[in-house]
Amino acid sequence: MSTWVFCEELDSAPSASALELLTKARAWGDVEVFYVGAGSDAAYAALGDHGAVRVHQLDAGDKLPATAAAAAMADLVGEGDVALFGMGSTDRDVAGRLSARKGCPVLSSAVDIDTSSGQVLVTNEILGGTTRVVTAATAGPVIVVARPKAFPAEPAGGPAPEVVAVALPDVGHAGSAAVLERHVEESEGPDLEAAAIVVGGGRGMGGPEEKWEPVAKLAGLLGGAVGATRAVVDAGWVPYSLQVGQTGKTVKPDVYIACGVSGAMQHLVGMKDSSTIIAINKDPEAPIFTISDLGIVGDVHKVMPALNAALESR
Ligand SMILES: Cc1cc2nc3c(=O)[nH]c(=O)nc-3n(C[C@H](O)[C@H](O)[C@H](O)COP(=O)(O)OP(=O)(O)OC[C@H]3O[C@@H](n4cnc5c(N)ncnc54)[C@H](O)[C@@H]3O)c2cc1C
Repeated sequence: MSTWVFCEELDSAPSASALELLTKARAWGDVEVFYVGAGSDAAYAALGDHGAVRVHQLDAGDKLPATAAAAAMADLVGEGDVALFGMGSTDRDVAGRLSARKGCPVLSSAVDIDTSSGQVLVTNEILGGTTRVVTAATAGPVIVVARPKAFPAEPAGGPAPEVVAVALPDVGHAGSAAVLERHVEESEGPDLEAAAIVVGGGRGMGGPEEKWEPVAKLAGLLGGAVGATRAVVDAGWVPYSLQVGQTGKTVKPDVYIACGVSGAMQHLVGMKDSSTIIAINKDPEAPIFTISDLGIVGDVHKVMPALNAALESR
């Protein structure tokens, strides 16, 4: 069995998901990386540091890379192999196309992968994380898409990997779509997905601007990032880039402070693995309290100004 990790180059570096998956997979033996991007010594060094022994690099230039990547991967990945992907849009695009080419399913939203029995057992969570399902793959190759932060990315001090250039396959019209423009959303403060403290605001904040301001202020005072529920994003109070949950970002900070958040399953799956969860909600029956380490039953517009004033006075 060979293990493959798909890696898209983002901002000249390997994707975070690839480093997480390498950390998980290196215990099983040698790991091959299928790398999409221009590549650099620094990027390859990071992959080697996390356990890659060989990097197969495909540079699709300004073309959308998924079709070509899937065609090239299909030639490399064997029947008995495992191919691991993150949840980035290119990752999922390639995983789906590879699945179609190889005639095998994709096991998606994995939170754990166990190969110790000789069989590939993939765990995922359903019903908003309340039930874990273990699926045994009976035929290969086994294609797995893992959730962000399912595994911590930890360097192991490995040497630089061997790098093999992969020729761009001819996939006809399917490979002709090009990336014309990239839009980078400007944001202040720490990166939401990497922040040690996240202050998540919900519909209970009551509105945008001055009603939302206690969330931004608390995050600023604590050096944390602002997150939000989908209800808030759908209402247009904050941009989608702040959404935490099933259809937003997955966060795993040391502290998550949920303010006026009910605790719908779709929100919980994006933040329930935070080390400490603090909730402020006026409804003592709000589901968010069932996963909170500390709960404050009260009006956010009374509790948060007092909390912010106390922090400011320190
Ligand atoms: C397919 C699908 C995907 C979804 N993906 C996501 C996702 O990625 N992320 C996500 O968040 N949601 C997602 N949702 C939506 C989700 O189901 C909930 O609707 C949403 O999370 C609710 O947001 P909320 O907690 O802000 O609002 P509400 O559920 O309306 O809760 C507001 C809370 O604020 C409290 N409150 C009200 N006023 C105050 C006050 N003055 N002081 C204190 N507390 C107060 C209330 O008691 C209540 O508990 C998804 C839904 C579907 C169907």
